[in-house]
Amino acid sequence: MRPPSEGAGLGPAEIERWLREADEQRLERLWEAADRVRAERVGEAVHLRGLVEVSNYCVRRCTYCGIAACAGPLERYRLSRDEILACARQALALGFGTVVLQSGEDPGLTREFIAGVVGEIHGRLGLAITLSLGERDDGDLRAWREAGADRYLLRFETTDPALYSAIHPDLPGKVSDRIAQLVRMRQMGYEVGTGVMVGIPGQTWATLARDIDTFRRFDMDMIGIGPYLPSPRTPLAGPLREQLLATPGEQVPNDEVTTLKTVALTRLVCPDTNIPSTTALSILDPAGGRRNGLTRGANVVMPNLTPPHYRQLYEIYPGKAAVHESVETLAENVLQLIASLGRTVGKGAGGRGMKNVEGRM
Ligand code: SAM
Repeated sequence: MRPPSEGAGLGPAEIERWLREADEQRLERLWEAADRVRAERVGEAVHLRGLVEVSNYCVRRCTYCGIAACAGPLERYRLSRDEILACARQALALGFGTVVLQSGEDPGLTREFIAGVVGEIHGRLGLAITLSLGERDDGDLRAWREAGADRYLLRFETTDPALYSAIHPDLPGKVSDRIAQLVRMRQMGYEVGTGVMVGIPGQTWATLARDIDTFRRFDMDMIGIGPYLPSPRTPLAGPLREQLLATPGEQVPNDEVTTLKTVALTRLVCPDTNIPSTTALSILDPAGGRRNGLTRGANVVMPNLTPPHYRQLYEIYPGKAAVHESVETLAENVLQLIASLGRTVGKGAGGRGMKNVEGRM
């Protein structure tokens, strides 16, 4: 097989062939190409975003997620304004340029509350702010953008409509259309991020290739890719899994190498986007997952700044990395990893840079 094509030349059929590739020598070409394109297009800087899991309340019934409303019993929490601001000050003290506020889909995080917190972080601390609060109405999204939020993360999870409704059911009276929300958010001036899980039951090679092609079609600014990690507290760990699984030759496995292939191919089709080396990847491979992501296309890490007591309650999947590690230890480990790769820590907000807003979606 030739080395992978890049950019527009890498179509869905070739993406699928590379996703199915099992020969280690040929895969070396994919890793090399992704790392070269990463170096050429986004450079050696690894941007650090401090992740704050602000609430684990959720009204959604996503069948894969351990904090969904339908998941087994869980102690719920919502951080106070002061607790969130303390995490943001810590991000600043550690030299991070961005804070990411993430939560379940929680109506208790009101428009006014989030706007107030965002305004404070933006105005007083000068950090860039990424929100990842699920599907919210345009009034909320506009208010938060006006208060100073810069970016919004909302994974579309899969481009297969039947699989999407099986894993991410609509709320009563409200059709879920994440791509439409991404398009509207871009028009509001947000940088927008999306992504998928790799190996969700029912995900075929062709679907995953189409997902990667969709990242390109919508020219996403940030793309988060992690393996699906089954949570025993969810419907997808039960009989639903067997119902959804594709035939053995078509079902995508939720393993490290497939996740890395997805990261590498995403770098090739979206050369200047921001791609994190995700926590889920480091759970599959605690010793090397994060490093492997960074050397196969990723250029962002999101160290978890949630206070440890709450971090263990944000259990979207089991074994979430380092629930007992202090924030300082986590940050130090990431800095050591970056130095050992000969890379540098990104300075400032680490956004994708100014691009023409019109015509990108
Ligand atoms: N509520 C927001 C939303 O839905 O976008 C943000 C929080 S949600 C927990 C963040 C992401 O976690 C989801 O987009 C999903 O891809 C990922 N996730 C949830 N459950 C997972 C699992 N069992 N394995 C891997 N990733 C999972």
